[in-house]
Amino acid sequence: MKELGIYVHIPFCIRKCNYCDFLSYETGKNCTEGIGIYRKAYIDALCAEIRSYRYMAKRYRISTIFIGGGTPSILMPGDITNIMDALKDTFCLAENAEISIEVNPGTLTAAKAGEYAECGINRMSIGLQSANDKELAMLGRIHNYEQFLVAFDTAREAGFQNINVDVMAALPGQTIHSYLDTIGKVLKCAPEHISSYSLIIEEDTPISENKKLLALLPDEELDRQMYEATNKLLSLSNYNRYEISNYAKPGFECKHNIGYWTLGEYIGMGTGASSFWRNRRFTNTRDIKKYITAFSDKNSHLDETEIRTVDETLNSDRLMEEFMFLGLRMMQGISVADFNDYFGHSVYKVYGEVIDKYIKSGHLINDGGIIKLTKQGIDVSNIILADFLLE
Ligand code: SF4
Repeated sequence: MKELGIYVHIPFCIRKCNYCDFLSYETGKNCTEGIGIYRKAYIDALCAEIRSYRYMAKRYRISTIFIGGGTPSILMPGDITNIMDALKDTFCLAENAEISIEVNPGTLTAAKAGEYAECGINRMSIGLQSANDKELAMLGRIHNYEQFLVAFDTAREAGFQNINVDVMAALPGQTIHSYLDTIGKVLKCAPEHISSYSLIIEEDTPISENKKLLALLPDEELDRQMYEATNKLLSLSNYNRYEISNYAKPGFECKHNIGYWTLGEYIGMGTGASSFWRNRRFTNTRDIKKYITAFSDKNSHLDETEIRTVDETLNSDRLMEEFMFLGLRMMQGISVADFNDYFGHSVYKVYGEVIDKYIKSGHLINDGGIIKLTKQGIDVSNIILADFLLE
């Protein structure tokens, strides 16, 4: 049986954060306002979509599931259990499958954490972003640092032995001191995994229109210092940087994300969710009402193309680009032999010039058939990775 990952999208949040451009709707507490009134109908449609994969499911073994959003922990008692039941009824889950759920510290309760553990979820990803309450307020997060500590303890008490904490660097007004204070506080909790991404200013978000905040964004040099300091501090505490922005205690690397970065196949369920299957990328409709109609109403006359759009069928050039672009983000790099197996010819035939150029400049090394970024290469990885795009 082939391995497959599954992503499940929950598009509800209590309130939108100032920097967020993910597909999620503001639904107030308990998911009762605005689009939140469709919560139950959405969960029913989601379970119907999961079950609609029952025929193809026979050929796959599920190695990872990631329930993300939005805010999955905003859902009501029983919702996550229903989703997990639909997944277990439809797919064959590997015995050691990694099953993650994203939670917002402002919405987790002991009862919810208990429900997640009970239905087989074994990894929790908690969005802290910052341990500084002023930074959290500036980002528009619904929680403070104290609530994160309570959520973290709640997860541990429910039995979660694999917890990720998300933090953000390069925030407006953030100093290296305040950033390292966040990292230090996270280290005191001793999660198994830490992700640290720099804030990206997305178009049409409130933060992108706030000139005052934009003027306070750290420059590239400070951003780089934050990354370097993260790496130093975390490696001293036995966290291994296995991808540019991700750190884990040995054995706790996120299998689901590694699947994305190594061109593993996955199916995305829920509105706006993307899939990569049989060399095709396709995406479910971002229109939640259409999504609910499509999967709940047997008489709906929605055309397949209205429910799901094929974004692209990846030709071998695009696959090679992704192989290199995503693979080099990982510290383990890419294997010359794996490239050969996948594409039937040497990586040097296509990328010889660019690889040689960066080996000479000290940004890449070929370590016994493994090509990877050097420390110097990680600092300017965006420039180097962009060079692997084929015209
Ligand atoms: S909690 Fe996450 S998904 Fe929801 S608005 Fe904030 S950043 Fe976006």
